[in-house]
Amino acid sequence: MRIGIIGPPGAGKGTQAALIAAHFDVPYIGTGDMLRDHVARGTDVGRAVRSYLDRGELVPDEIVCDTLREAFTDAIATGGGYVLDGMPRTMNQARAIYKVASELGMTTDVALHLKADDETVRRRMLARSAVEHRSDDTEPVIQHRLDLYHRVTEPILAWYAFRGILLTVDVTRTAAQVGREILVALEVMRPLLDSCPEKLRRSVDLTALTPTA
Ligand code: AMP
Repeated sequence: MRIGIIGPPGAGKGTQAALIAAHFDVPYIGTGDMLRDHVARGTDVGRAVRSYLDRGELVPDEIVCDTLREAFTDAIATGGGYVLDGMPRTMNQARAIYKVASELGMTTDVALHLKADDETVRRRMLARSAVEHRSDDTEPVIQHRLDLYHRVTEPILAWYAFRGILLTVDVTRTAAQVGREILVALEVMRPLLDSCPEKLRRSVDLTALTPTA
């Protein structure tokens, strides 16, 4: 199973990615975590990216693409499945992932879109900042990351929809409810993914299932 997760900061991408990774027994590839790890270890990459992370700016494409190629190559050893969280952030990255993944025979089966309104994710990130003390969970940086998401990341969804691999889920509920809905949808799709070529697929939008208050 090869899943890419896309959604605004604070949508719960890391939480849902970890659940999917455990359920399907595939490696979790999180670009934010990998970059934070470089910073914590003080590597050359860490020194190069630290100020981008602190300001909530996107790290240059070449750096994240190199990091991703390494992670994809490692994932081959465990069967070639993955859950990718935090990338692509730009259309350029989306094309780069497609190129690398095509070369390795690992293109994404499902692009999972975690859909949430700005108010919900802003509230969650401020709550997270009280616990995790991440340098990028301050109010101005949160706003900047949300603006970046809408401007450069959200447009990528249309490309995934066009490819017929987009699965959209409303995440303004508890993590457990969202997780259940995602796993059920992926389990239903699983037998079809190997037999149905990309060009015959249709995108799926589950947001209408959410009861409105
Ligand atoms: P995240 O943990 O996914 O919210 O990412 C935290 C920060 O890491 C982002 O605000 C960016 O500074 C950087 N980052 C993570 N993934 C990417 C990416 N694909 N492209 C550029 N910057 C990234």
